[in-house]
Amino acid sequence: NSRLSPRMAVVGASPTAEISNKLRALAARGADVINLGEGELDFATPRHVCEAGIQAIRDGDTKYTAVSGTAALKAAIARKFERENGLRYAPSEIIAGTGAKQLIFNAFLATLGEGDEVIVPAPYWVSYPDMIRLAGAKPVIVPCHARDGWKLTPEALAAALTPRTRWVILNSPNNPTGAVYGRSELSALEEVLAGHDALVMADDIYEHIVHDGSFVAPAAAMPRLAGRVLTINGVSKGYSMTGWRLGYAGGPEWLIRAMDVLQSQSTSNPSTISQAATIAALDGDLSFLDGWKRTLLARREQVLSAIAAITGLSALPTPGAFYVFADCTGLFGRRTPAGTVLASDLDVAGYLLEEAHVGMVHGSAFGMPGHLRIAYAIDDGRLAEALSRVAAALGRLA
Ligand code: PLP
Repeated sequence: NSRLSPRMAVVGASPTAEISNKLRALAARGADVINLGEGELDFATPRHVCEAGIQAIRDGDTKYTAVSGTAALKAAIARKFERENGLRYAPSEIIAGTGAKQLIFNAFLATLGEGDEVIVPAPYWVSYPDMIRLAGAKPVIVPCHARDGWKLTPEALAAALTPRTRWVILNSPNNPTGAVYGRSELSALEEVLAGHDALVMADDIYEHIVHDGSFVAPAAAMPRLAGRVLTINGVSKGYSMTGWRLGYAGGPEWLIRAMDVLQSQSTSNPSTISQAATIAALDGDLSFLDGWKRTLLARREQVLSAIAAITGLSALPTPGAFYVFADCTGLFGRRTPAGTVLASDLDVAGYLLEEAHVGMVHGSAFGMPGHLRIAYAIDDGRLAEALSRVAAALGRLA
């Protein structure tokens, strides 16, 4: 449409939202669909967090606040960073926004222009490249490999850095692979980055969902890069608060100030109700997470053993988040009952959607063709049903 800005040519709808739309269309036709495509926990937001939100409404805490969040929220974020990550930020180095997504977008918009490059290790969260393009810059996709635990190696990083590199993205635990970077791996990347002036975006949004090993905040593990790491986090994943839309970031004051300016001219402060609930979440007890993680771990094992039993699919154990990233190249060349030969991850995902009414996101959406992302944060019984339908549908291939 000629009324649209040329800017719209560089951006596409989120593929995860597209899968959900297709599933909704199937469901509207009466199909019993199961969505393993959504990056969202099925648990309810903890009660004490909800109560704090309700109390905020009762107290009339329903008006504009400072664009970057209330002083009370920033103090809770600063306490969280110090207690859980060993990071010290002044209030002027902290901003809260409408989800981590908005903060990432604002950070790119505030810093990128024509000719700039951002290193995006693949597989990556679907939104990074489009956000980078919207800001006028170029995503430099650096493929990571299963043999390296899906992690960026110092060699690959060094080879991708150029004088135009403005940012390097590190997402640990990673969406979609669940890879978690350890302290020594981060130190090795720090060594490479110390010789360059690129900013580092540490997207720590899955920090609380780690099954094997433990989480280390990149900003804490890379002290030599002090002053040029932006730590992105939020309550969506760790507290099952995706709908509350509250993310936060800690980083250099000049950058936080610029993000604040952009926010002041676009969305303004995040919801006051969500801000109050987030204070309760960050200051509150985290013991509820033990039960969640036990449940998620059992589901991960359920998915991994189902995959191990299917010829043509394989996957590594995923240390963090709530995804399994399965290789489906072993199915290529097989023929569906309707006579189509499967030749790509998109074909396999499409076949499973049509034949099993199970939705998964194809790996190409994350920059890694030949794979499927299985989000297992759904009810155990439904997960078992989905996995047996997938096995049955794949069993019908010739
Ligand atoms: N970063 C990653 C890696 C994600 O997977 C997501 C959500 O899917 C986000 C950021 C955005 O989270 P929020 O709900 O806080 O916007």
